[in-house]
Formats: sequence, C-alpha cells, structure tokens
Amino acid sequence: MSASRVFGEDAARLGEAALELTSLEDEVLALARRELPTGAYLDSHVHLGRDVDGHELTGDQLVSDLDRCEVARAVCFAPNDPGEDGAFRAANDLVLAAASAHPDRIVPFARVDPGRGAEAEISRMAGHGARGLKLHPVAQRFRPESEESVAATRAATELGWPIVIHAGFGARRLARPIAELAESVPGAVLILAHAGRGDAAGLADLARRHEGIWFDTSLATLVDVVGLPPARLLFGSDRPYGEHASALQLVALARHLAGWTDDEARAVLERNAAGLIGDAP
Ligand SMILES: [Zn+2]
Repeated sequence: MSASRVFGEDAARLGEAALELTSLEDEVLALARRELPTGAYLDSHVHLGRDVDGHELTGDQLVSDLDRCEVARAVCFAPNDPGEDGAFRAANDLVLAAASAHPDRIVPFARVDPGRGAEAEISRMAGHGARGLKLHPVAQRFRPESEESVAATRAATELGWPIVIHAGFGARRLARPIAELAESVPGAVLILAHAGRGDAAGLADLARRHEGIWFDTSLATLVDVVGLPPARLLFGSDRPYGEHASALQLVALARHLAGWTDDEARAVLERNAAGLIGDAP
C-alpha cells in the first residue's frame, strides 16, 4: 500500500478496494503519460480549503497528489466558502498560506463575489502575491455581464491577471454573456472552466472572434475538448471535485483524437497557463 490517496479519495476510507484501485490508477497514469510529452505540467484549476458542500483539500494533500501524478505546479483558488461577509477573505488567506508553504508548487489566485467588496479583496490579494482571479456566477449568483462582474473583471485585468470563470454545471448558456463581458473589458483574459461545458460550441465560436477567450479541461467532456484549439486550452483537474489521473487521461485521449503535436500538447499541459500567469518565457 503506497499512496494515501487513490483517484483523489482517502485510501483508508476505501478499505480493501484501495489496493486494486491504486494499481488501476497507476495504469491510467501510465497510459496517459505514454500519449503525452514529458514536461513541467501546470494544473490550472484546483480548489484549496473547505467547500460549504464538504469537499476539502489542503496544500499538503495537493502537493502529494502532484508528486504522485508528476504534475509540477497548480493554480489554486478557494472553493465555495465565502465566509460570513461573503467576501472570501478567510478562504483566500488559506490559499495564500498554502502558497507560501509551497511557493514552487502552488500559484495563488483570489476568489471574490463581485457584489461583496470584490475590488478591495482583489487589491488586498494582489498585495500578497496572487496572480489571477476566480469567479463563480452560479455559486455567487451573479450574471457575468453585470456591472459588478465587469468591475471585478476590469480590476483584475488592470493587474494583468487572467480570470477563471465557472462554465457549465448549472450555468445558463454563456456565449452571449461572456461576449458582453469581453467587450466591456478590452484586454481581459477569460478562462472558461470545464471547456465551456453546456455551451462549448458557442464559446468556441466566440474564441475565434476574441483572442482573450480561453478554456480549461477540468471535468470537461472529451467531445468539447477535442473541438477546441490547443492554443487556447489549459490542462486542469478541478481537485478536489476531480482528480489528476482522469484529468491527464482526458488530455491524452483528446490529444490522440485531435492529433495534437508534442508542441501543442505541451502548450495545453504547461505553456499556455504559464504564459497567462506571467511566467518568464
Ligand atoms: Zn472548480
């Protein structure tokens, strides 16, 4: 018994099944790696902390996941844990603490509710080294094209931050709202989570007209990922709701089906995200 977590679950909780699942996870990882070029993979979608729905992940747990799955770094933001005032302050501080404990593994993003002190929280987080923003229009119940959302997006864009926006799973069709947001904030870099699930074709069409529209592969469908250009795609796991073995296998299958070159696959796994968070090339 080697791993303490299997497919993202606590191995101890899985009992006797853990051993078998661990070797299955090894097999999935090996299959994925066979299809993918080596590199310093960057997971662009991880939640650290404790969601009000009970999902939970600590920085130390994440780093052991990353080690097991040979992923170099992860972009991390808070789960849905807005706190009493709804401003995400405590949840954001937890992400910062994990990033300062693992500065070479964790890239901190801020999460805000556009209707609750967002601009103050964005500038506070910028002062602490955050490098991007996460918005969740479904959990925080706002429209992406609303005045508050535009203001938060503008504040992040002025800092040079990319903005991860939840798409799919309860979201309405997003191509038009996201087009409005993109037009209201020229220069904004908008990363649609879950490959724009639910409106991927409309959003892919929008991406052809707007160079600031990107997508992550976290908990996406294979068909959606295959239909998107690798130059606009970022590998993501959505830990702790998703896990790395399946996330890497999804990218491997998409690469196989879409025929991405090694260079295109490396862009998805690492280079696109590194560029958006401002790593030196
Ligand atoms: Zn997520």
